[in-house]
Amino acid sequence: MAQEAQLWEPGAIPDGLLAALRSTRKPLILTHIYPDGDALGSSVALHHCLAKLGAHPRTILTHPVPEKLRFIDHDGVAEVLTGEPDASQISAVEQADLIIVVDTSAFHRLGHMKELLVESDTPIVCVDHHLEGDLDCFQEVWCEPGSPSTGNLVLEVIRALGQELTLNSAESLFVAIATDTGWFRYSNSGSVAYRIAAQLVELGVDPEPIFQKIFQSFSVERTLALGDLLANIECRSDGKILFSVLSEKMRQRREVKMEDLDGFVDSLGQVAGTEIVFLVVEVGPGRYKVSLRSRGEISVHAIAARFGGGGHVKAAGCRLEGTEEQVIAELLAVCQEQLVGKSTGS
Ligand code: AMP
Ligand code: MN
Ligand code: MN
Repeated sequence: MAQEAQLWEPGAIPDGLLAALRSTRKPLILTHIYPDGDALGSSVALHHCLAKLGAHPRTILTHPVPEKLRFIDHDGVAEVLTGEPDASQISAVEQADLIIVVDTSAFHRLGHMKELLVESDTPIVCVDHHLEGDLDCFQEVWCEPGSPSTGNLVLEVIRALGQELTLNSAESLFVAIATDTGWFRYSNSGSVAYRIAAQLVELGVDPEPIFQKIFQSFSVERTLALGDLLANIECRSDGKILFSVLSEKMRQRREVKMEDLDGFVDSLGQVAGTEIVFLVVEVGPGRYKVSLRSRGEISVHAIAARFGGGGHVKAAGCRLEGTEEQVIAELLAVCQEQLVGKSTGS
């Protein structure tokens, strides 16, 4: 089973998807809220590919990109909403002849762009690797949950469209794959991520400065906020569950932006013997964003799905409302249920 996952290979790209990408003149590229390296890298690489094919693409993000990742949008093509879509962004949807959603297939993860899409008659296509989504809402969809990232799927699409990869796009896609696999450490890497990484390095991508930009360029404030979070970790179920909370007050005290919390949850997973780790971040009064990670057989996707969230087996997320105590109690109850289910084999 593990070997099978490690040797995952992509299936065929739907012909209809390639035809739609070849014929579009005014594509609009969208991705999930709080875009990460995969969301941004996939979007901008596809943007440049379609521009080279003669189209006039627009890429719109619903939230700012973490500072450390901005360099992968080399030419600054991604536009960022500052709230509700403005007239220019509404017209981007109205004028588009094709909407392309990458790195999510769940409409609710399109944030403020979702309503515009629901009202639009424009064909919508999707390239993604998540376990759940509104697959029926797309004219064409290529979703490969076994894939390490959306970035490597976008690379296949670019190749199938007969386009040469520029060095900038190679770097954007390298970051897409590297960030979704935790710099090639997680089991979702499979042989594909290593193989493609080698190809991108041969094209001229230089991993070391990229690693420095993404993992060794944090502000002191962010590092102190991480320290606060690590000082507050709590363990349950003989250390199999480990969690921490970052309140709005803690975040504001350190003056850290929401988008710069990317990667915090991974630091919780450093402790030996954990099976489930989660981080609860207060995003507004009584509103919380939860990131869950598993290193073993427990599916955190199953836990997140119980709260309307999703993601992958070993990395998932959801949103909860209530008091901090209620939210933690609800999460712990479901985590403990999963641990018991595992030990009884049910
Ligand atoms: P994060 O913990 O935010 O890094 O997200 C981990 C994985 O779960 C990513 O693949 C996300 O796309 C997915 N994810 C996070 N939050 C949600 C949510 N509320 N609904 C569905 N998927 C989510
Ligand atoms: Mn993503
Ligand atoms: Mn992804």
